[in-house]
Amino acid sequence: MDLIQAAAKPVIIYGAGLKKSEADLLRKVEPRARFIPLVSGVNTVTAAALGLINRINPTACSTLFIAAADENGALDQVAAQIGRAAFVIVMACYASPLTERADLVLPMATWLERSGGFTNTDGTPLRAHAALPASGQSRSDWDIPGALGRKAGAGCRGRQSRPAPVRRLKGERTMSKVLIATDWLAACAGCHMSLLDMDERIVELLNHVTFTSSPVTDLKHPPESGVTVGVLTGAISNTHNVEVAHRMRARCTYLVAVGDCATFGGIVAARNLVGTEAALKRAYLETESTVDGLIPDSPELGRPLPAVTGIGEVVKVDIFLPGCPPRPDDFLYVFSEVLAGRIPVVLPSQHFRYD
Ligand code: SF4
Repeated sequence: MDLIQAAAKPVIIYGAGLKKSEADLLRKVEPRARFIPLVSGVNTVTAAALGLINRINPTACSTLFIAAADENGALDQVAAQIGRAAFVIVMACYASPLTERADLVLPMATWLERSGGFTNTDGTPLRAHAALPASGQSRSDWDIPGALGRKAGAGCRGRQSRPAPVRRLKGERTMSKVLIATDWLAACAGCHMSLLDMDERIVELLNHVTFTSSPVTDLKHPPESGVTVGVLTGAISNTHNVEVAHRMRARCTYLVAVGDCATFGGIVAARNLVGTEAALKRAYLETESTVDGLIPDSPELGRPLPAVTGIGEVVKVDIFLPGCPPRPDDFLYVFSEVLAGRIPVVLPSQHFRYD
């Protein structure tokens, strides 16, 4: 009690075992404390509300699909009862007697790896964003039935190319959106124009994300407090580009290199074929339209590097999205994957653009 009295903002988590004398004591700190009751059986109550109240008899099933099979060992008893001839499909995050018994295991992403909604222990619906990318072939629990439905030709919607993996929940308290910052290096504006070419789909995207900064808005730099996704277009050509790339890397969780220039140098890397000096002379002194040419030279300008490279040569990149430029659909694919808590390390072939 002394500890609670001394705390500036106490949070008290209590369960059914709380005695009346203890409850009376805690009431004294009620005005400034936050109380969280441990309500048991939240999942059971929700299942009943959805009409899922019929008990099954595992011994009588010829096929059994067990979703979310990680319930504290309670389902291990089910595993023991399943008939030997039954075909058992299990969706689970962890190994258990159920996964041992299963004929087919569908690996499920853990809570830390999936976005979605959940009801907390005091009955409040909340939204969650994935903190880690899902590992291996695991997927969010809501995504697996969708994928199965599509395979079975049931026309199940499941995951779409549009970024709507998280529905807004009734009474939802948390409205945080995924923060995205973009910047450009040695680039034409083509990649950013393609991003803008998402047109009205940007409106839908903005239900889930906030663009904190970009080269085409007043706020140019990613916030010091950081963003989830940093998007960089353009190649590393001069010292200023290196600075911008390091700043974005330091302030984002996932860095996306967008466009051929960002991926491997692209058209900007043509300078490597002739050398920096020759390229500068040709561009600023020798073009047919140049009169009194002058090679720019100011301490405020970045100095050309000996060679042009992709961004991955100077900072760690999490996702490469090549193309000159990538199509708006390709941006949407990457954003929707990240929103769903997945990092598309290898892009599906339809999202590779070679021209
Ligand atoms: S990849 Fe193409 S569109 Fe994108 S910045 Fe480079 S040249 Fe421009």
